[in-house]
Amino acid sequence: MEEKTPTMPSFVFLKYLKITGEGLDSQGKFAYATCDEVEQPVCPHCGSSELYAHGYYHRNASAMGRDGARKRLRIKLKRYKCRCCAKSFSQSCNRIGIGKWQRRNARLNDMLSRECANGVSNKAIGMKYRISTSTVERQLHKNHAVLLSEQLQYPCPHVMGIDEHSIHRGRTKGHKFAVTLADLRHHRVYEVFEGKNSKVLEANLRRLKGREQVKVICMDLSSPFRSIVQRLFPRAKIVADRFHVIRLIIDTFHEFCKAADPEIKWKRGIICALRTKGANLRPTQRLLLEKEFSRHPAIETAYDFKEELCTLLSINERKRINCVPLLERLKEMVWQMLHDAPEIFKKLGRTIRQWFEPIIRMWRFTKSNGITEGFHRKMKLIQRRAYGYRNFQNYRLRVLIECGHIVI
Ligand SMILES: [Zn+2]
Repeated sequence: MEEKTPTMPSFVFLKYLKITGEGLDSQGKFAYATCDEVEQPVCPHCGSSELYAHGYYHRNASAMGRDGARKRLRIKLKRYKCRCCAKSFSQSCNRIGIGKWQRRNARLNDMLSRECANGVSNKAIGMKYRISTSTVERQLHKNHAVLLSEQLQYPCPHVMGIDEHSIHRGRTKGHKFAVTLADLRHHRVYEVFEGKNSKVLEANLRRLKGREQVKVICMDLSSPFRSIVQRLFPRAKIVADRFHVIRLIIDTFHEFCKAADPEIKWKRGIICALRTKGANLRPTQRLLLEKEFSRHPAIETAYDFKEELCTLLSINERKRINCVPLLERLKEMVWQMLHDAPEIFKKLGRTIRQWFEPIIRMWRFTKSNGITEGFHRKMKLIQRRAYGYRNFQNYRLRVLIECGHIVI
């Protein structure tokens, strides 16, 4: 027969708890236990220590020991009666981490938070620990209540990314939006706000502490965000998000190609080749492009222009002195777009001119909102796990536990 793994002796399961026997009920095995009493118990009603024994009381609870073992307990507790106020009370279990009205010890409650941080759903946690899903949710809120209320007390990070994402609200409830503030230096979510309405967002941002200390804010090319950020973060320099700028250029170029060659929408291979960065093209893709260019020379000109613009805007970590020639070239290209290009490129030129300063700052700034976008992907997984969140606070709790700086 296989040798059983030695179990920890029951006296170290929990300090101050003694296992006295084993029992069986409809839910399975449980342990009978007693809890060590404090040296001098006092009456919780009047504080007197003149007590006399008044029988026993059995309390059911689950507990997790130091070794991670879980046990269902039936704890035999002493009852006392006070000689001063004549009221009765029973011995407390605070010494083993079970508070008033509670059915689980502190270590087991912390374990629920840890499971949640690892991405386990409420249902799975509930099944494992034999508690209902709503109890899991209630306990998580309770575990993090102080931290959640303190969250806004932390000063703003110095380098911040701001972006919006949609939240799935469950079947038939549709979508709504939320705004993410990410700490780009430490790769974590600082806060999520419900709604993208300017007034609500402004009111929310106004509550943040240390707004004056924020140095850099990275955002996509969204005008409402920019005006709010300029008002509320006076010292912050706005940096455009490289990913969004490049995507805008590629989308504009694609629109131009569709206008120049209406047939192109059926040629997926060419579309893919046109979107690919020049240096990453495969030989077959190059051939495809050469064929297309021979038929439509306008696309070739636009392609070269797009390639140069994307390469120019992808540069980072430049010293200030190195940025001067880049700046001149970008100015020339914007001028070209505004005065010597089709209407589609004029629009792009106007956008770049409007966002000129945030865009040129990209050269000096290595971080991008890619970090925030990465968190959005993680948030989508959180939403999928619960089939959507109707209660924004429950969603926010999950996001801050899994992506934020709540330490469990
Ligand atoms: Zn009393």
